[in-house]
Amino acid sequence: MSETKLRDQIAQFGRSLFMRGYGCGASGNISVKVDDGILVTPTNSCMGFLDPERISKVAFDGTHLSGDAPSKETFFHLAMYEERRDDRSIVHLHSTHSVAVSCLEGIDRENVLPPITAYYVMRIGKLPLVPYFRPGDKALADAVRKYAREHHAMLLANHGPIVSAKALDAAVYSAEELEETAKLYLLLDGREFRPLNHEQIADLHQAFPT
Ligand code: ZN
Repeated sequence: MSETKLRDQIAQFGRSLFMRGYGCGASGNISVKVDDGILVTPTNSCMGFLDPERISKVAFDGTHLSGDAPSKETFFHLAMYEERRDDRSIVHLHSTHSVAVSCLEGIDRENVLPPITAYYVMRIGKLPLVPYFRPGDKALADAVRKYAREHHAMLLANHGPIVSAKALDAAVYSAEELEETAKLYLLLDGREFRPLNHEQIADLHQAFPT
């Protein structure tokens, strides 16, 4: 797909996410891999009103190549791409329910959300919690890199989710599925509920191998 088309798609998906409440203000960022680096949403830009031509381009070593100044969170996108060579897009949100779950005491840090629905199991599967670091702290990139080796999705403590995939649409859909599952989890709080059991999860993995 041409770079122009990818820039348009970033703006379209950004607008879609913003209009449906997956981001507010200038929060969240989207990136897509191209031949000579990544396209990433600019710093202090609102996902709902992106100008495709001003989307930043950054080399794989972090050098700003063109467009507006890139998001301050670009460094963890680059770290994730380095570990996940086949993935071509990353979506990072400060979506309300996922952030709420990331602040809960007593959650399983190895796998934050239970397997509530089949689509959550298929699109996310396992979701580790990455320890808290302040915005811009380069140690966050090292932490993300560590988890990215085995996980395409992770939740930053007191911050929000990061999801990578082989294409932009898939990364967006997985990030949405994660946010909706966090919402369901909070809705079910205090009630007894049945997550999918081992047999049902094994059946899903067999029917839809990744
Ligand atoms: Zn963030």
